[in-house]
Amino acid sequence: MIIESKVQSGGREEILGEKMEADISWENTLRPHSFADFAGQDQVKDKLRIFVKAAKERKEPLDHVLLSGPPGLGKTTLARIIAEDLGADIKVTSAPALDRKGDLAAILTSLKPFSVLFIDEIHRLSRTVEEYLYTAMEDYYLDIVTGEGMGARSMRFQLAPFTLVGATTRAGLLSSPFLSRFGIVERLQFYDRKSLEQILVRSSELMKVEAHPAGLQEIARRSRGTPRISQRLLKRVRDYAQVKGTGIIDQPLAKFALDQLGVDQLGLDSMDRRILQLIETKFSGGPVGVETISAALSEDRGTLEEVYEPFLIQEGLLQKTPRGRTVTDLARAHLASF
Ligand code: ADP
Repeated sequence: MIIESKVQSGGREEILGEKMEADISWENTLRPHSFADFAGQDQVKDKLRIFVKAAKERKEPLDHVLLSGPPGLGKTTLARIIAEDLGADIKVTSAPALDRKGDLAAILTSLKPFSVLFIDEIHRLSRTVEEYLYTAMEDYYLDIVTGEGMGARSMRFQLAPFTLVGATTRAGLLSSPFLSRFGIVERLQFYDRKSLEQILVRSSELMKVEAHPAGLQEIARRSRGTPRISQRLLKRVRDYAQVKGTGIIDQPLAKFALDQLGVDQLGLDSMDRRILQLIETKFSGGPVGVETISAALSEDRGTLEEVYEPFLIQEGLLQKTPRGRTVTDLARAHLASF
């Protein structure tokens, strides 16, 4: 079911735009609400804590924040934690929901002083809407034009001081005037195993599922360094534990379930393997352009670049060269093990 305009939760938060209700409900259940519960990303977390504390002490709005990194690493979660720590309201929306200046004006003029406006996928804002944001970000005002042609009038509208938190999987696509208006720019990294294990321990407790440390380690190891994936795998492994096991997630059960789900020892799923396999077998290991890979696999280029490639590159399985993508010896060895 699609949520069209807004959802109130606890009177503190509004979600604007479209999102699947089921996603919201389970992500909200497992979402940490404080820096203390947010595992990993220590450097980013430590800095944000300081900036939030300093802004609060000065009774000033926090500088605008840009969080970048692949999907599922915790950008939305951090935005909510920032608002929570500031003791401020948060409005949540995403760039595709702001396709006209009027959409943005409606949200900005409704913000309470010192609140947080979270815009997901901020690289997808149209240039017109982006430029309209500039005066709001810098001096907290908007010029609103009413009427048309000769009768058009411009009115200056003073806004309450606010903090914009933007999230993006493609920071490189932001124009430099836009980028320069964010005082705090942080990039989230893939999580190490220990942090993912911590997240899984917390999630399994919240989900009231019994799990052995070795079982959770197995899931963490195959989660592509991504909390959202670790939680999705945990839910699916729980299903296997319930139907095929004793309800307890131990290591053999986790291994069996993950193998059944097609998630291999390195955490690669079938699409990851298809990408590597295609380059290796059809293009002699590369280099091959991303457009060609996209056409051959019928997969959107943006998804390849934002979702699949960052992890394959970080794991040393894929290389980006000026002439295209190539697979590494490590990838060849991994493919040969199947
Ligand atoms: P993004 O906005 O980067 O796509 P989200 O903030 O929506 O990612 O996080 C996806 C899921 O992963 C959420 O359910 C969230 O609770 C969980 N999550 C992300 N980062 C962490 C973390 N550091 N600790 C615990 N859970 C996390």
